[in-house]
Amino acid sequence: MMAQNLNSKNTDGEVEQECRRDTAHTSSRKRHRDADDDESPKKKLVTEESLHSQRVATHYNALQERGLAERNRSRIVHMRNFNNWLKSVLIADILDKVKQKKRDVTVLDLGCGKGGDLLKWKKGRIDKLVCADIAGVSIEQCQQRYNDMRRRGHPNDHTFAAEFITADCSKELLSEKFRDPELQFDVCSCQFVYHYSFESEQQAETMLRNACERLRPGGFFIGTSPDAYELVKRLEESDTNSFGNEVYSVNFHKKGDYPLFGCQYDFNLEGVVNVPEFLVYFPLFEEMAKKYNMRLVCKKTFREFFEEKVKDKKHKVLMQWMQALEQYPPDERGRLASDSLGEYDHAKTISENPAVRLPLGTLSKSEWEATSIYLVFVFEKMS
Ligand code: SAM
Repeated sequence: MMAQNLNSKNTDGEVEQECRRDTAHTSSRKRHRDADDDESPKKKLVTEESLHSQRVATHYNALQERGLAERNRSRIVHMRNFNNWLKSVLIADILDKVKQKKRDVTVLDLGCGKGGDLLKWKKGRIDKLVCADIAGVSIEQCQQRYNDMRRRGHPNDHTFAAEFITADCSKELLSEKFRDPELQFDVCSCQFVYHYSFESEQQAETMLRNACERLRPGGFFIGTSPDAYELVKRLEESDTNSFGNEVYSVNFHKKGDYPLFGCQYDFNLEGVVNVPEFLVYFPLFEEMAKKYNMRLVCKKTFREFFEEKVKDKKHKVLMQWMQALEQYPPDERGRLASDSLGEYDHAKTISENPAVRLPLGTLSKSEWEATSIYLVFVFEKMS
């Protein structure tokens, strides 16, 4: 369990949320009605795949844009900020690397959602961004956010050019939809998305093709995804087909049988039933990526990534700015995100050591358990 010294007071910082509730809206993709009437296994699979894609689009389209005040009241505000900090560091580090060799940077944000990473691309001073997502409403909101960002910016501010595409990136080829048919990327970023495509080999392959086929040699494919080892370990330790705590739960349909594709589980965060997700067996993912000349350069759990990056002063300062950890003990007017007994035992123990400078920065036990399911990956395209 993590706990850091918070030497400077937190300030109101950038809080970019991934996904929010909004008006229910389905994607333009049509359900394969005729397949419903056919009982053949192949047709049945087609129907299930289509339904899952539709559920994903409907779910994310229905997530609402919430105000900062409401977001700050959320039980998992610090976990969301922590995830955001982690993405910020990953993106900033990779852009630094790319810029050592090249000035004009073009990025593909695969599964961009409502544009939670737009500010990160702006801060990274990229030149062009292509945003793609299966959820049409999310793409509209992403575009709106981009327009607002441009409008609000100083006239001398450099804001990147952008293009927005609604597409099921596990089934459709993005290269057929770019304005410039020859477009190439320096970075493809796929944050909390890739696991949706592991429903079938073909979907995982198409998603990977979209991520990698237009990368320049020396370009990077970066992302965050649930760690199958961690999920299966927690499942095997549980007496049932489920595990979790007061902020998240995961429900598998069965135990002991983990097919390479289509190994489905339901993920529930803060009581909101989420869409089906699929285990990504990482060695297989790594093997599949070789087809596109991709070499794995980094795979770290969120814990490992955090422990490494927080040693760097600039990342630590950003962490405080983004309020990615919760202050323990809280100040006189503040209160902890959870009142449950035991959620802060780890921080309490550390804070009782007179040698430790207070306040600490930490996450509640439940938030840490939820975020430590994930891993970070970085692939590089070989020439
Ligand atoms: N990457 C964004 C972020 O980090 O803020 C959004 C992450 S959200 C957890 C997952 C996103 O993946 C949703 O916006 C969802 O619509 C998108 N997604 C899921 N399956 C997809 C697919 N097959 N093609 C394109 N986007 C997909």
